[in-house]
Amino acid sequence: MESQDKFKQQLLDLRDEYNRKIGAIDADVHHKNEPVEKDFAEQATQRENDDVLNALNQESKHIVSQINSALHRIETGDYGICTECGAEISEERLKIVPYAALCIKCAEKSG
Ligand SMILES: [Zn+2]
Repeated sequence: MESQDKFKQQLLDLRDEYNRKIGAIDADVHHKNEPVEKDFAEQATQRENDDVLNALNQESKHIVSQINSALHRIETGDYGICTECGAEISEERLKIVPYAALCIKCAEKSG
């Protein structure tokens, strides 16, 4: 694929962005774990916030690992090929999800 360099740069930028996000969330959650005097309702709210942050963190880490796999596939020449059925992933899809490992058909099947 001729535009692979462009996608590679996009993936690197995206990985930086997510790593920054993960760092910020980690710092935030850590800060909130400091002992503070709060009533029950506030504690419950804080726990919910932490759950949301942790979920976001998990999601971000999951995306970073997908980005790493995509970067690896660029090195091995498998980028843009569906890991499930071997079909070419459309450039339109890669523009939206540059770390996509599945073609749209397989993604719909598994989703
Ligand atoms: Zn496929």
